[in-house]
Amino acid sequence: MPTANQLQRFPLFINGEFCEPDSGEYSPVINPATGDVVAEAACGNQNDVDCAVAAARKAFYGDANWRRMAPENRARILQQCAQVVLANARELAVLEVTCSGGTLNRVSGLDLLAVADLFTTLADEVKQFPFVESLPAKPLPELTHTQIWREPIGVCALITAWNFPMLLFAMKVAPALAAGNTMVVKPAENTPTSTVRLVELLNQVLPKGVLNVVSGPGSVVGEALTLHPDVDKVSFTGSTNMGRRVQQNAALTMKRVTLELGGKGPGIVLPDADLERVAYGALWGVYLNAGQACESGTRLLVHESIYEDLLQRLKTLSERVVLGNPMDPATGMGPMSSESHFHKVLQYIDSAKAEGARIVTGGKRADVEGCEGGFFVEPTVIADVTNAMKVAREEIFGPVLSVIKYSDLDDAVAMANDSDYGLSAGVWTEDLVQAQTIARELQAGSVWINDWHMMRGDAAFGGFKQSGYGREFGKYSLSSYVETKSVSTSFERNPAAKKLHRIVHTQMP
Ligand code: NDP
Repeated sequence: MPTANQLQRFPLFINGEFCEPDSGEYSPVINPATGDVVAEAACGNQNDVDCAVAAARKAFYGDANWRRMAPENRARILQQCAQVVLANARELAVLEVTCSGGTLNRVSGLDLLAVADLFTTLADEVKQFPFVESLPAKPLPELTHTQIWREPIGVCALITAWNFPMLLFAMKVAPALAAGNTMVVKPAENTPTSTVRLVELLNQVLPKGVLNVVSGPGSVVGEALTLHPDVDKVSFTGSTNMGRRVQQNAALTMKRVTLELGGKGPGIVLPDADLERVAYGALWGVYLNAGQACESGTRLLVHESIYEDLLQRLKTLSERVVLGNPMDPATGMGPMSSESHFHKVLQYIDSAKAEGARIVTGGKRADVEGCEGGFFVEPTVIADVTNAMKVAREEIFGPVLSVIKYSDLDDAVAMANDSDYGLSAGVWTEDLVQAQTIARELQAGSVWINDWHMMRGDAAFGGFKQSGYGREFGKYSLSSYVETKSVSTSFERNPAAKKLHRIVHTQMP
């Protein structure tokens, strides 16, 4: 434990214990709400990755107890993981809030419950998962029987982003454990603290070497993991650009890959929608975590008949959002997670102005009392956006809603789909039959009707198009952490009765 003047240090955690990074180096962890250094985290390198992968490999192959454990026993351990999370929720929440800028309201009221829920959901799913499936026996031309076995893949590299560190961790770790894999987690360099502590805590109930963490820059630790010949699977959450690189690296040794990448979520507002509900819901869709969520609803396509009315409501409600210290329960929106990201978001807003869009509210740095060094951006609504503008095409990852006017519903659906991304999409209307028809047309992994962020631990989550592939959550995620093996047995003992052998053994009597 550090003394009052020392920063808390977060080393690596490999093979059931803390260890110093090979380089001996630590990098500062900055609280984006204040700009203060709040901790130091180990800078891992290739040697550390080798060490962690070796530990994970030993835990997988060296002793078959983990990978061959009965699903009921594994379910018990997953339940214990959920209990560990809840028992340490306060400490974990503070660590995450102070490194990521996510609000305490969100981290403790949403994320940590979802993290615990993911472990319990996977505990339930693992008991029902078809690890062994018997196909009907084939009696002819000779008696055979085939089973489908689903086995853990091996060593998984789980690379998470800075926006929801523990939630993204659980989305990968819970199914990877449930299926019997071992793993090395790499958190984002600027938000490692809650992840490292969580790994330490979960190791109280896991065999050593099963769950390891190596923090450090993505260009070093992420590269080493995605290129490592002894890593069998990579699951990655982050930008589409980096996802492409991860996929290329992984292809060299044909690693299994799950990619959860960017989004540009379109919400279509029909003329009959309840505008007050849309205003609250659409802003929840874009201001949660100050817009730093891949599934955010960042494009709002609004029918011309309700356009100005809705804009006025969005403006009024946006101006009521409380920016403040994320630790304060009165705070509704925190800062951008880093200074560089803060500047990037402001540049996007400038690009909208330059392209002729109208800033309805916000658009600047926000001054927050008590957080003068923080990286806050005002809740921002931009009107008169066209789908061709940069703010409609690229992921901003900030509290910025781009509002686009439409007159014809088919055009609105076409605009919604006219994007490289396909993660989330939504419809706002009182006509639920119409909503279902539109949902069928939308090219997105999740479609939400009359709300946003409607994710749950047992429903599939993932992207179409350049938002990635593979699905997370519940039983859908379990399938991405297993290899499928067909095991066939012949019951015919007489060689002469094996009809197919005669294709080769043409002289057989
Ligand atoms: P990145 O895609 O660079 O980061 C995501 C994760 O990948 C981090 O852990 C990062 O590590 C790691 N990483 C970086 N380089 C490599 C590499 N060569 N190999 C393997 N892993 C690597 O995103 P950014 O943090 O740069 O954010 C940029 C944009 O990406 C955001 O503005 C947003 O638009 C989008 N994004 C989308 C997310 C989503 O939820 N889908 C999440 C985060 C960002 P490190 O941070 O230590 O370098």
